[in-house]
Amino acid sequence: MKFLIPPIIFLLAVTASCGDKHNELLVEAESFREKGGWLVDPQFTEQMGSPYLLAHGLGNPVEDASTSITIPATGKYHIWVRTKNWAAGDWEAPGRFKLAVNGNEIESILGTGDETWYWQYAGKIPIKGPAVKIELKDLTGFEGRCDAIYLSTKKTEPPAGKDELSSWRKKLHGEAEIPEKSAEFDLVIAGGGIAGCAAAIAAAEQGLQVAIVHDRPVLGGNASSEIRVHTEGITWKSDRIISMLNTVWWPNGSPEAAKDDTKRHTNMARYDNIKIFLNWRAYTANTTDGIITSIDARQTATGERMRFSAPLFSDCTGDGWIGYWAGAGYMYGREDSATYNENWAEHGELWSPAEADNKVMGSSVLWRTYDAGIPVSFPDVPWAMDVAGDYSATTGTWKWEFSRNDLHQIEDAEYIRDHMLKAIYGSFSNAKKKAENVNLGLEWVGYLVGKRESRRLKGDYIYTFNDEKNMTEFPDAVAMETRTVDVHYQQIEADSTKPDFLSEALYYKVDHYFIPYRSLYSENIGNLFMAGRCFSCSHVGLGGPRVMHTTGQMGVAVGYAASLCKKYNTSPRGIYENHIDELRELIY
Ligand SMILES: Cc1cc2nc3c(=O)[nH]c(=O)nc-3n(C[C@H](O)[C@H](O)[C@H](O)COP(=O)(O)OP(=O)(O)OC[C@H]3O[C@@H](n4cnc5c(N)ncnc54)[C@H](O)[C@@H]3O)c2cc1C
Repeated sequence: MKFLIPPIIFLLAVTASCGDKHNELLVEAESFREKGGWLVDPQFTEQMGSPYLLAHGLGNPVEDASTSITIPATGKYHIWVRTKNWAAGDWEAPGRFKLAVNGNEIESILGTGDETWYWQYAGKIPIKGPAVKIELKDLTGFEGRCDAIYLSTKKTEPPAGKDELSSWRKKLHGEAEIPEKSAEFDLVIAGGGIAGCAAAIAAAEQGLQVAIVHDRPVLGGNASSEIRVHTEGITWKSDRIISMLNTVWWPNGSPEAAKDDTKRHTNMARYDNIKIFLNWRAYTANTTDGIITSIDARQTATGERMRFSAPLFSDCTGDGWIGYWAGAGYMYGREDSATYNENWAEHGELWSPAEADNKVMGSSVLWRTYDAGIPVSFPDVPWAMDVAGDYSATTGTWKWEFSRNDLHQIEDAEYIRDHMLKAIYGSFSNAKKKAENVNLGLEWVGYLVGKRESRRLKGDYIYTFNDEKNMTEFPDAVAMETRTVDVHYQQIEADSTKPDFLSEALYYKVDHYFIPYRSLYSENIGNLFMAGRCFSCSHVGLGGPRVMHTTGQMGVAVGYAASLCKKYNTSPRGIYENHIDELRELIY
């Protein structure tokens, strides 16, 4: 495996128009040379327009980020910073920070103001060039965020609207339609969770040249040390491959997850024909006549772009992004109980609603505390209390989960993440007021949203609760699970006195159930596989096989199927029609 490290380029756009003596520069915060304690957060790129820098310091200001730029001419510049006040209200904004230019702090406090992303005016200052040092100075450690800095000799605020802003950015960066770089593979996998990694190994072992495009610095998705969910389910016929990738059963949130990251990376590195593109986020799929010809991805910090071409693709993003961009059929939300006859009378609406809605299983942010042995202080967090109320807690479990009918798990993911952060900081603040918690400090709080359910891509077969209940013996079964089916609901749905950020599970015991191959390729995009929680299933159908040993089995099936597609020059559907026995032999 080769970890491809892109050359350091800086997203710095400079334009100068001599006619009206107008100079302008756009500096993308994520491309700062020194990040200090700030983190690159690319989770919400599709919604707010870019990766950004986040000051995630658990209440302690993080180390400064800094970079050097070159300005076209010494002079007076107006400065805007694209930011948001993520918890606006009648208190000081939680994510406050300042900007320093050539060592001089600008007076304006940033990260205040609007709750949506906007250009905050920082002021007009004289700047001596050509080399200029810019620094971000966090003031709080509570999720200050900076997307970009715009300097201009003219006082014209940059555009705010999503499309207008995107065109303006491209123009300033001089970005062409087609990525600068390209590469070809036999199989391109987007998303390096357990499903994506398993698909990569299975395909590579059969001799395919594989690319795995993953938007994080570590592989594993929810099982990684960044999110810290342990893997569950059975490994069945794919034990050898999944064992290279999975986790020990440590409690969710445990730092032990880092050991499993090391195991996963070491094992993936054994395959010369897997090229891993870490910190690369896919952003579009290019198609011709219902076939994906390539996907384009962007390095999350440098902005470098690459086109990945292949005859076959696998969407392992969890969110079904590749299918979505390619125009694949997909589902979102809870189907009404009549659609697939998934009613469970005992639990009624909590299990499957009479009318379809958007109350899918929610997203989580895990967290934990530590005992310092001496008193540890924690600041007041008034901006968190409307969410936390008087709830008090010292650790998070899988039950710290948030879903609401009016929120989309992808489109509103930043709001969902921030809601969970308010729940965590507020509940911990309440706990700290109790004498027994005086020595407790926050050890770790995730900043990545751990998702359970969002888009599910439609395949030739839609897997439902009935297949679990009836233990359907598919002729094309490629994965098996014995885990009890569980579907979550928000506690507040059953008891209005409960906080809205806690969930509960309903369990339906089944002996075993199978997953058919037909649920692992798209119904209408001819060369697209999917493995993971975005496989073809109903909302209740996802209740069993969303765990990561099962999604790993799906990945193995997809990897082997891709190798047969190459061998017989056929499509994923062609494997079902003509080579399903050979696929099952590879798996069994
Ligand atoms: C709190 C919590 C507790 C859970 N408990 C368990 C449990 O105990 N055991 C268990 O097995 N499962 C558990 N689950 C469920 C399980 O973690 C998910 O269903 C699982 O993550 C599915 O795996 P996946 O590979 O499909 O997706 P993911 O793990 O989400 O991996 C997909 C990866 O793709 C990346 N990606 C997304 N978009 C792009 C893009 N455009 N370009 C490049 N990369 C991209 C993402 O960063 C992500 O890392 C839990 C989930 C949560 C949130």
